Amino acid sequence: FRSLSDLVREHAHQRPHALALCDAEQTLDYAALDVLMDRVAAALQLDGLKPGDVIALCATPSVRYAAVFLGALRAGVVPAPLAPSVTAASLAAMLHDANARGLFADAAAAALLPPSPGDGDAPTRIALDGVTAGRRFEDWLAPEGSRPQPVEVSPQDPFNIIYSSGTTGTPKGIVQSHGMRWAHIQRGLAYGYGRDSVTLLATPLYSNTTLVSFFPTLGWGGCVRLMPKFDALGYLALAQRIRATHSMLVPVQYQRIMAHPRFGDFDLSSFRFKFCTSAPFHASLKADVLARWPGGLVEFYGMTEGGGSCILSAHEHPDKLHTVGQPAQGSDIRLIDEEERELPPGSTGEVVGHSAGMMTGYHNQPEKTREAEWFDRTGKRFIRTGDVGRFDADGFLTLVDRRKDMIISGGFNIYPSDIEAGLRAHPGVQDVAVIGVPSEQWGETPVAFVVRHADAAETPAQLMAWYNARAGKTQRLADLRHLDELPRSAIGKVLKRELRDVYLSDPE
Ligand code: ATP
Ligand code: MG
Repeated sequence: FRSLSDLVREHAHQRPHALALCDAEQTLDYAALDVLMDRVAAALQLDGLKPGDVIALCATPSVRYAAVFLGALRAGVVPAPLAPSVTAASLAAMLHDANARGLFADAAAAALLPPSPGDGDAPTRIALDGVTAGRRFEDWLAPEGSRPQPVEVSPQDPFNIIYSSGTTGTPKGIVQSHGMRWAHIQRGLAYGYGRDSVTLLATPLYSNTTLVSFFPTLGWGGCVRLMPKFDALGYLALAQRIRATHSMLVPVQYQRIMAHPRFGDFDLSSFRFKFCTSAPFHASLKADVLARWPGGLVEFYGMTEGGGSCILSAHEHPDKLHTVGQPAQGSDIRLIDEEERELPPGSTGEVVGHSAGMMTGYHNQPEKTREAEWFDRTGKRFIRTGDVGRFDADGFLTLVDRRKDMIISGGFNIYPSDIEAGLRAHPGVQDVAVIGVPSEQWGETPVAFVVRHADAAETPAQLMAWYNARAGKTQRLADLRHLDELPRSAIGKVLKRELRDVYLSDPE
């Protein structure tokens, strides 16, 4: 086991002038990063923070944000990066839950943050951009040349608290350990992360999606380029300019990049590996990426909670693009039924997973933790994913849908993903999401939201008639509406609960 803080220090000694972190404004080499981490760690210790204490970060990704995250690790302090894109209420809930002693924010977050009550219980506010409420970051930092008290960490110690995406409800705080992060860093060796890697990241730093690529890059002495605001053309130009070797993108980003008319103008031959996770990644889109974008394509399926993951090396298995791959090394993935009985091979059921690096539990939520656990007959502990899937004969996992999104209509189980696939077959459909809504006759009934291609002319009624003529009786839609865009989280997950709210507030 190695701690990330020690790895950065080693790189700083061996290659002080190698680039470590860049954004549009600032660049830090390993020597400068190491010094800044020392000053952050020392400042936290001066504030009286002890190993295991928590700080919250709520800001747009930047070099400074990343340096505070890394500096906290050096003091054994546990960063909780929070999404500035959620509602004020959910942000307040996460801040309360994390029980943070310090809060590092910028203008992007300030509008959402609750006003500091100014009493002793509130976290100290530090303004990362120097303009929002709180102490200026430069004034808060320990003086140049400061060295923190050395802190030893072991694999069980908490590394960070990450909030789940809140796709299906309130975000849950997940404590990840140093050991779990070390496992991610080690896995990175298989993907060519090293001193010459340049990783372009255009997703937020509060998401595990980004962090599973961020830490291996730094752990192996490469350079991370942060792109705080993604757009397809900007991404392509930047990737070409910095000669990016690695990148993590979510499916909707791949979709926008591949659909960009100028995709072919850029030289992307520097890429070694591209990664994807967090939401369904359609086989045809994977095939397009493989065909036109140099380098390997690797999809991860897993949860922030840990507890097993699957990996698809798409470039090695072009015939398995409809799957999320095979269980990763050390992952034990099983399927269970509604009564929580283990299912035999060939069945479809809820995915549960076990791995060495899984969460011990949700932060402050023992009840939720118990709900998420499943034990096999020998007492081995698994985490329930809430995803429904099945294995093929070669051991590749196909995901069917999220359990919570399943529609029970007239006693039949309907998976929205099946209806979505049916609608996607229509040439006018660019994007689609199906939800269940209450129905007096059927209990629940499916309703579709469709984003049309610019040149498509079908009315909602025509499209619904087209689909219903092809669908099985139970899968027929009760309604279909057009939207300009599907509601998505900042990491590109379709927010079906928002669609339910939209529909229920305006059922006609
Ligand atoms: P919450 O638990 O708060 O509702 P969330 O489950 O979306 O949010 P994450 O831990 O970020 O929070 O995401 C894990 C989930 O993302 C998985 O359970 C799965 O539904 C989905 N997912 C992850 N990887 C993939 C993938 N490769 N393909 C399809 N879905 C994926
Ligand atoms: Mg989840």
